[in-house]
Amino acid sequence: MKQKTLFKGIKYLDSDSMRLTPGDICIENGVITETGNNLDVGTGAKIVDSSSLIALPGLVNAHLHPSKEIHGSILDASPIDIVLDSVHKNNALETPEGQFIAALKALTTGVKKGVTSFGLFTSRIENDVKAARLTGCRCVVNFCQSNMWVGKGQSPQRNSVATACDNYYSSLVFGQDALISITPATASELAADDHLLLALHEIACQFSSRLTLHAHEGKTQVDLHTDRYGKSGIQRLAALKILDKNTTLIHCSHLSDEDIRLLRENQPQIIHCPISNSFVGAGTLPISTFINDVNIGLGTDAAMVNPGNNLAFDALFALYHHGDSDFNNKITASRLLYLLTEGGAKTLGLENVGKIEAGYKADLIFFEKEKIDVDYINTPVSLLKLLNNEYPSYVLIDGKEIITDGQFVLAAIKENDAEYKSLRQKVTL
Ligand SMILES: [Zn+2]
Repeated sequence: MKQKTLFKGIKYLDSDSMRLTPGDICIENGVITETGNNLDVGTGAKIVDSSSLIALPGLVNAHLHPSKEIHGSILDASPIDIVLDSVHKNNALETPEGQFIAALKALTTGVKKGVTSFGLFTSRIENDVKAARLTGCRCVVNFCQSNMWVGKGQSPQRNSVATACDNYYSSLVFGQDALISITPATASELAADDHLLLALHEIACQFSSRLTLHAHEGKTQVDLHTDRYGKSGIQRLAALKILDKNTTLIHCSHLSDEDIRLLRENQPQIIHCPISNSFVGAGTLPISTFINDVNIGLGTDAAMVNPGNNLAFDALFALYHHGDSDFNNKITASRLLYLLTEGGAKTLGLENVGKIEAGYKADLIFFEKEKIDVDYINTPVSLLKLLNNEYPSYVLIDGKEIITDGQFVLAAIKENDAEYKSLRQKVTL
């Protein structure tokens, strides 16, 4: 949207108080240029009477495997080996076309609920990028490449360090654009030797992005690593001097006191996937320990370990799951709103995303007061409830309207539902 637009008399989320505040929002060229009361934006601006609207920054789902949508709701909660068995039974459905159809479904479902930025974890990026482009969402694609496997079960595809680096640089040519960026990633601490970790981290530093990997996802993963290396994955990253702000760790749900100390001292980014961790019994991120030292985002992970795949529900789950036996371990609704927005953006290396403030991207979601329940009040927990229960009427990404009246502007997106339905009917239970 090149034209200057003024949303006049709106209620929007003030990210300092994490409450709604009345005022105006001015956007131009995809960026919020000004917020405040009775803004004078001069002539030529399109003025939208917004007294019936509530605006929040678009949400950030920092970790999603979009093509795994195919495998959703097969199991209710199971150990990881049983989850992987159920996925392997349906691997044949993950053709390039199937991957595209599933990824498009996962992304459009997220956008409809107000998610405007995604961290997409994938080893086959072409079809996920194609789905992201059609959806029009902001995406950081974690391009996963591995060169070893000390885990149980099926090994991820392996490439040499040189090939992995070449693949990464090639992906930049076709994959990146104004809304999509690609960062180096590896499956987990079990899937990369020291050379690959160092090479991918160097790339992350070069592009001011993040080396992203699953880490410490449960006791088995930590034990397998310790048996092989004599130390935990986090301790190996610290010894390699790559446990820093350019590294993003997904999960960290099984940590020793020494791991916790290293994380607090070195401050990598952490992505918390509370429902996924609970689903497979991988433990709990001790979130209150890190909340003042380490930047944290939230992710839904994958449909086979999070059938709801609804980011706001993960936030509500985290609100009550943490501190269930000790109130000191609680996390507040206000803090969770931060994790859902700016915190998540930072884990992905996205600057100026996740806040309604001058200079931030115009990624905005609008709820019509007439179309949502009358129950909500102006508290952070009520806003979490609103995000969980309602659908935004309008979604803007980079200032461009993606959803109007609750529907995608692009007709091609609706047509995917029939194809997705036929894919899901082929799922083997
Ligand atoms: Zn994951």
